[in-house]
Amino acid sequence: MTFDAQQSSPTGFEVKLPGPRVAVILWPLITAFNLRNHTTCMRPDTSPTVYSRSRLGATLAAVSALAVACSATGCDGLSNPAKPGRVILIGIDGASPRIVNEMFAKGELPNLAKLAREGVSGELRSVIPMHSPRIWNTIATGMTPEQHGIVGFSYPNRIGNQQLYVSTDRKAPALWSIASAAGLRVGVINFWNTYPLEKVDGVIVSDHVLAKEIEGRNELTGSAQTKTGAVIFPEAWNEKLVQLIKDNATPVPDFEDPFAPPKILPRWVLRDELQRRFKEDGAIASMTRKIVREEKPDVTMVLLYGIDRVSHYLWGVMESPEHYTQGLIPTPETRAGGREALFAYYQYTDALVGEIIKDYGPNDLVMVVSDHGFEAEQGMLRLTGNHTTEKAIDGVIFARGRGIEPGSESKHVSVNDITPTILTWLGFPTANDMAGVSADFLPEEVRGAVTPVPSYKDLKIEYVDTKPLPSGVEDDIVEQLRALGYIDEP
Ligand SMILES: [Zn+2]
Repeated sequence: MTFDAQQSSPTGFEVKLPGPRVAVILWPLITAFNLRNHTTCMRPDTSPTVYSRSRLGATLAAVSALAVACSATGCDGLSNPAKPGRVILIGIDGASPRIVNEMFAKGELPNLAKLAREGVSGELRSVIPMHSPRIWNTIATGMTPEQHGIVGFSYPNRIGNQQLYVSTDRKAPALWSIASAAGLRVGVINFWNTYPLEKVDGVIVSDHVLAKEIEGRNELTGSAQTKTGAVIFPEAWNEKLVQLIKDNATPVPDFEDPFAPPKILPRWVLRDELQRRFKEDGAIASMTRKIVREEKPDVTMVLLYGIDRVSHYLWGVMESPEHYTQGLIPTPETRAGGREALFAYYQYTDALVGEIIKDYGPNDLVMVVSDHGFEAEQGMLRLTGNHTTEKAIDGVIFARGRGIEPGSESKHVSVNDITPTILTWLGFPTANDMAGVSADFLPEEVRGAVTPVPSYKDLKIEYVDTKPLPSGVEDDIVEQLRALGYIDEP
């Protein structure tokens, strides 16, 4: 299906094909470069984590050289159609096609509707089990959870305590690491498992910047408190970005908080928590806008959590009263109030998306995706929402950019395909070990323009701060403690 955006207004965009000329013409040149060209992107060999230097590094050096070759030949961004524009990927956790369709029919999501008119839209297939970190890491790496290693929220460590997965547990490089190694500037804001921080060419705001969110994850999984060091890289950005959270900065200051008293909500809603989500998404959007404007990253990736958290409390309002067990049926007022709040939160997110993408033009790639949809779940004393079965397996995708046909429908695209699609759009090779392929909404000649590399898995990642310690180091410590007799054999 495609989202019916009400009108089929012309876009005014001149559609040009992304980057095949870069790939075709420069590819022979770039193989002349070798690994030394980007040793600054590499971690020291003494690093305890999993990546090792290999011939694949040479491939990345080649990719990196693409940018070098481009600057040497005077490719200067938007004025040269051979150079792909900038990319922004906006993740909306839990955005459901069911609500998007209902709101599109009433013209209530103007920014997403505009993206649908100017590009491609449709459902994005997820993978069960749909725990958010599994899926977002798949979106960010093109790998299955088993390949990228982040298979849930937490895992029992070797002394039996639950521990949240962190960035050093990711066994496959994320798109931002590949792009940074290839010489592009990146901006990463609030993506899953971005703490400890990676050193990249650009800015990373780790998901640990939202301390309450991390507390919540610790609580949810019974994990020990996760230590937190620096959450923003580079340090120079720290103060001005943290200030945005402190100030409850938002790019849409006139948007009314959908959960503020005296709004009527179902009794199981934790009003304070949803009000906090409202502020946090605003601050994340403000940070993104600031980074996009001042840093002008080539590749920006941002995640807005709010819709997921709000839907966990409110999805019950999407179901008719017979879905509620006796005694739980909300009054018509609370049901209407909950529905109004849920839909208002979608409108709010749409407004944030509109602000974030304001500076992106027809030469750029703007993509909005969700990791899954939602379905009703009968809890102990409430009818809420979750994402467990096939009923919730479809999220949404919108993509507008050079080479993408306006008003077209996305079919058969899955969460595995996002990283391969963006790499292809940029004129970079995908990898043979990626689970996904480039989406078929990119023109065939673009998809066929660059030969895939075997893998990006051995790309080295350098971290800023290793608190909590990378898993390899922790294992060494556990091993030493075991040798000293402090820990029993498992
Ligand atoms: Zn999710």
